[in-house]
Amino acid sequence: MTLQSLHPIRELHHDLATRPFIVIWEVTRACQLACQHCRADAIPHRDPLELSTDDGRRLLDDLAGYDAPRPMVVLTGGDPFERPDLVELVAHGTAAGLHIAVSPSVTPRLTRGSLAELQLAGAKAVSLSLDGATAATHDGFRGIDGVFDATVHAARTVRELGMRLQINTTVTRDNVHELPDILARVVLADIALWSVFFLVPTGRGGSLTPLGAHEVEEVLHWLHDIAPLVPVKATEAPHFRRLAIQRRGVDDVDRAFPVGPLRSALRTRTAEVVGTGGGSPGPRRPRPPINVNAGRGFAFIDHRGSVYPSGFLPLVAGSLRDRPFSTIYTDSPLLRSLRDPARLGGRCGICEFAEVCGGSRSHAFATTGDPLAEDPTCSYQPAGASIRI
Ligand code: SF4
Repeated sequence: MTLQSLHPIRELHHDLATRPFIVIWEVTRACQLACQHCRADAIPHRDPLELSTDDGRRLLDDLAGYDAPRPMVVLTGGDPFERPDLVELVAHGTAAGLHIAVSPSVTPRLTRGSLAELQLAGAKAVSLSLDGATAATHDGFRGIDGVFDATVHAARTVRELGMRLQINTTVTRDNVHELPDILARVVLADIALWSVFFLVPTGRGGSLTPLGAHEVEEVLHWLHDIAPLVPVKATEAPHFRRLAIQRRGVDDVDRAFPVGPLRSALRTRTAEVVGTGGGSPGPRRPRPPINVNAGRGFAFIDHRGSVYPSGFLPLVAGSLRDRPFSTIYTDSPLLRSLRDPARLGGRCGICEFAEVCGGSRSHAFATTGDPLAEDPTCSYQPAGASIRI
């Protein structure tokens, strides 16, 4: 029995139908970068209709009104530093009792001084994007030279200041073979979490090529293999939880889940750059994936105050102009339907893992137009699937 076999999934102990685990607020859509995969289709200037400082304070007060543990709040963009009241919002949320993280773009506004101001205001964590292991690939992805070096520098600064650091990596068919080299960097960066995001073809990301279902499965196995090396999270791939349960207590994983060419290549390169392919006891206990999903523990608020199940599922659940977030989160028919595994269709609808997985609702919607359809990025065939598909 391995450590991973003890708790393959982290279940939250409060009712996710009435209290979210994490809320992402896109404080602005303005950003000076033009990343290829941008969900937000970021724009150079602030939208006059974005939520005001007072609107933001009211939202943060509403979120702070939840019983503990209150939802974690991530201020994202666009580039949150495009808002002159960013520090004020962080301070307000912190004073109200919230844990605030900030997800800035790497631009000249991101300096040791601006990070220190955030920290002084109470921000606990900063997340930065790293989509390539070299300047050539990362800067190519983000459309501006010099961002890679600035990101490495900013990551170091975040840790020197003593803030938690999350690295976000978007994986597509173009950079999937670079994952081991990115891993080597994040292992050295002393991070709190590596979030590997499986591209949803929405926003500007629609021009990139996402992985197919079998490739996703191979990458998820690789992520599980390297989990003893770094705290890792699979974003928009909730079947990582299914895989964690399937692998629980399995002694010969390669025999139970044969290694395909992609995982084999990732494993070989990992051994070259990190010194181990993972899969064996590492320096840390693997982080169990948390059982939350779009609209079930997770919600996204855009810059104008519209509430969505996720930033990658463009269906509006309600607007802060009409009702507070807490009411929308609990009552929205859309969010209620997403929280009900009995409403899922296709393979997800008959899957024995539906309650702990539920599939990526964003991928389902992006592919079929139906947020309750089966997740096309999962290759699992539940018993009886042939009857329903
Ligand atoms: S079929 Fe759906 S619910 Fe089952 S593991 Fe795959 S994505 Fe998850």
